[in-house]
Amino acid sequence: MKSRLVIECCDCKKRLNRTKDVSFPEFPISTEYTEEEIHGLFFDDYSCPFCGNRLKFTSVMIDLLLPLLKKRYHIGLNQSYIEISNGKVTFFLGNNEEITDVKSYLMGMGIEEDRLTGDLPTVSDLKDINKLIADVNLNKWKVLIESGAVSTSFVSTYDLWLGDI
Ligand SMILES: [Zn+2]
Repeated sequence: MKSRLVIECCDCKKRLNRTKDVSFPEFPISTEYTEEEIHGLFFDDYSCPFCGNRLKFTSVMIDLLLPLLKKRYHIGLNQSYIEISNGKVTFFLGNNEEITDVKSYLMGMGIEEDRLTGDLPTVSDLKDINKLIADVNLNKWKVLIESGAVSTSFVSTYDLWLGDI
Protein backbone atom coordinates (compact mmCIF):
# COMPACT_ATOMS: atom_id res chain seq x y z
CA MET A 1 0.00 0.00 0.00
CA LYS A 2 1.21 3.51 -0.79
CA SER A 3 1.25 6.24 1.80
CA ARG A 4 -1.36 8.87 1.17
CA LEU A 5 -2.54 12.22 2.38
CA VAL A 6 -6.30 12.44 2.87
CA ILE A 7 -8.01 15.82 3.20
CA GLU A 8 -11.59 16.09 4.38
CA CYS A 9 -13.74 19.23 4.47
CA CYS A 10 -15.41 19.61 7.89
CA ASP A 11 -18.26 21.80 6.59
CA CYS A 12 -19.25 19.20 3.99
CA LYS A 13 -18.84 16.38 6.51
CA LYS A 14 -21.29 18.14 8.85
CA ARG A 15 -23.72 18.73 5.98
CA LEU A 16 -23.49 15.08 5.01
CA ASN A 17 -24.10 13.94 8.60
CA ARG A 18 -27.16 16.15 8.85
CA THR A 19 -28.70 14.64 5.75
CA LYS A 20 -27.88 11.05 6.64
CA ASP A 21 -31.40 9.97 7.62
CA VAL A 22 -32.83 11.26 4.35
CA SER A 23 -31.90 9.01 1.48
CA PHE A 24 -28.86 10.78 0.17
CA PRO A 25 -26.34 9.26 -2.19
CA GLU A 26 -22.99 8.55 -0.56
CA PHE A 27 -20.46 10.94 -2.00
CA PRO A 28 -16.78 11.23 -1.26
CA ILE A 29 -16.03 14.22 0.94
CA SER A 30 -12.33 13.50 1.09
CA THR A 31 -9.58 13.53 -1.50
CA GLU A 32 -6.42 11.42 -1.49
CA TYR A 33 -2.92 12.22 -2.66
CA THR A 34 0.12 9.99 -2.93
CA GLU A 35 3.64 11.24 -2.23
CA GLU A 36 4.19 11.97 -5.92
CA GLU A 37 0.93 13.89 -6.21
CA ILE A 38 1.52 16.12 -3.20
CA HIS A 39 3.83 18.51 -5.05
CA GLY A 40 0.89 19.50 -7.24
CA LEU A 41 -0.86 20.91 -4.16
CA PHE A 42 1.82 23.56 -3.85
CA PHE A 43 0.83 24.94 -7.27
CA ASP A 44 -2.92 24.48 -7.11
CA ASP A 45 -3.69 24.47 -3.35
CA TYR A 46 -6.55 22.23 -2.26
CA SER A 47 -10.14 23.17 -2.88
CA CYS A 48 -13.07 21.11 -1.68
CA PRO A 49 -14.82 19.71 -4.77
CA PHE A 50 -18.22 20.36 -3.19
CA CYS A 51 -18.15 23.75 -1.47
CA GLY A 52 -14.99 25.25 -2.93
CA ASN A 53 -13.35 25.94 0.48
CA ARG A 54 -9.64 26.38 -0.11
CA LEU A 55 -6.66 25.12 1.85
CA LYS A 56 -3.43 26.82 0.91
CA PHE A 57 -0.33 24.62 0.67
CA THR A 58 3.02 26.31 1.28
CA SER A 59 6.41 24.82 0.45
CA VAL A 60 7.00 24.52 4.21
CA MET A 61 3.90 22.34 4.51
CA ILE A 62 5.03 20.10 1.63
CA ASP A 63 8.51 19.78 3.21
CA LEU A 64 6.92 18.72 6.49
CA LEU A 65 4.43 16.33 4.86
CA LEU A 66 6.85 14.30 2.75
CA PRO A 67 8.93 12.87 5.65
CA LEU A 68 5.76 12.33 7.72
CA LEU A 69 4.37 10.15 4.91
CA LYS A 70 7.39 7.86 5.34
CA LYS A 71 6.73 7.16 9.02
CA ARG A 72 5.58 3.76 10.17
CA TYR A 73 2.42 5.06 11.82
CA HIS A 74 -0.71 6.88 10.71
CA ILE A 75 -1.24 10.47 11.79
CA GLY A 76 -4.66 12.08 12.06
CA LEU A 77 -4.88 15.86 12.52
CA ASN A 78 -8.09 16.90 14.23
CA GLN A 79 -9.43 20.05 15.87
CA SER A 80 -7.69 19.51 19.20
CA TYR A 81 -5.92 16.17 19.07
CA ILE A 82 -3.31 14.38 17.04
CA GLU A 83 -4.32 10.76 16.53
CA ILE A 84 -1.49 8.27 16.11
CA SER A 85 -1.97 4.65 15.11
CA ASN A 86 0.78 2.17 14.25
CA GLY A 87 -1.52 -0.80 13.71
CA LYS A 88 -0.89 -2.10 17.23
CA VAL A 89 -1.72 0.87 19.41
CA THR A 90 -3.80 4.01 18.80
CA PHE A 91 -3.64 7.07 21.02
CA PHE A 92 -4.31 10.81 21.09
CA LEU A 93 -1.94 13.64 21.94
CA GLY A 94 -3.10 17.21 22.47
CA ASN A 95 -2.22 19.62 19.67
CA ASN A 96 0.85 21.64 20.67
CA GLU A 97 1.25 19.70 23.87
CA GLU A 98 4.85 19.82 25.15
CA ILE A 99 6.03 16.22 25.36
CA THR A 100 9.62 15.33 26.21
CA ASP A 101 9.33 11.56 25.93
CA VAL A 102 6.45 9.97 24.08
CA LYS A 103 6.65 6.55 25.71
CA SER A 104 6.72 7.78 29.30
CA TYR A 105 4.00 10.32 28.47
CA LEU A 106 1.71 7.53 27.24
CA MET A 107 2.49 5.35 30.24
CA GLY A 108 1.55 8.35 32.37
CA MET A 109 -1.77 8.40 30.51
CA GLY A 110 -2.34 4.83 31.68
CA ILE A 111 -1.26 2.84 28.62
CA GLU A 112 0.70 -0.21 29.74
CA GLU A 113 4.25 -0.49 28.45
CA ASP A 114 3.73 -3.88 26.79
CA ARG A 115 0.94 -2.39 24.65
CA LEU A 116 3.33 0.28 23.34
CA THR A 117 4.81 -1.80 20.56
CA GLY A 118 5.61 -0.74 17.01
CA ASP A 119 6.97 2.66 15.98
CA LEU A 120 6.03 5.68 18.02
CA PRO A 121 6.63 9.30 17.02
CA THR A 122 9.78 10.92 18.35
CA VAL A 123 9.76 14.32 20.00
CA SER A 124 11.12 15.81 16.79
CA ASP A 125 8.35 14.12 14.75
CA LEU A 126 5.83 15.75 17.08
CA LYS A 127 7.46 19.14 16.55
CA ASP A 128 7.08 18.69 12.79
CA ILE A 129 3.46 17.61 13.17
CA ASN A 130 2.72 20.67 15.29
CA LYS A 131 4.45 22.95 12.78
CA LEU A 132 2.16 21.52 10.12
CA ILE A 133 -0.89 22.03 12.34
CA ALA A 134 0.01 25.71 12.68
CA ASP A 135 -0.59 26.12 8.93
CA VAL A 136 -3.88 24.23 8.69
CA ASN A 137 -7.19 25.55 10.01
CA LEU A 138 -8.40 22.36 11.68
CA ASN A 139 -11.84 23.84 12.24
CA LYS A 140 -12.26 23.56 8.49
CA TRP A 141 -10.13 20.57 7.58
CA LYS A 142 -9.38 17.12 8.82
CA VAL A 143 -6.05 15.81 7.56
CA LEU A 144 -4.96 12.17 7.64
CA ILE A 145 -1.44 11.08 6.85
CA GLU A 146 -1.89 7.39 6.19
CA SER A 147 1.32 5.37 6.27
CA GLY A 148 1.88 2.73 3.61
CA ALA A 149 4.20 0.91 6.03
CA VAL A 150 1.35 -0.03 8.38
CA SER A 151 -0.45 -3.18 7.27
CA THR A 152 -3.88 -2.01 8.41
CA SER A 153 -5.46 1.11 6.93
CA PHE A 154 -6.26 4.05 9.14
CA VAL A 155 -9.67 4.01 10.75
CA SER A 156 -9.96 7.18 12.76
CA THR A 157 -11.77 6.84 16.06
CA TYR A 158 -11.63 10.59 16.71
CA ASP A 159 -15.31 11.28 15.96
CA LEU A 160 -16.30 8.27 18.01
CA TRP A 161 -14.44 9.37 21.14
CA LEU A 162 -13.92 13.08 20.84
CA GLY A 163 -15.83 14.49 17.87
CA ASP A 164 -18.84 16.67 18.45
CA ILE A 165 -20.69 15.65 15.31
ZN1 LIG B 1 -16.50 21.32 1.42
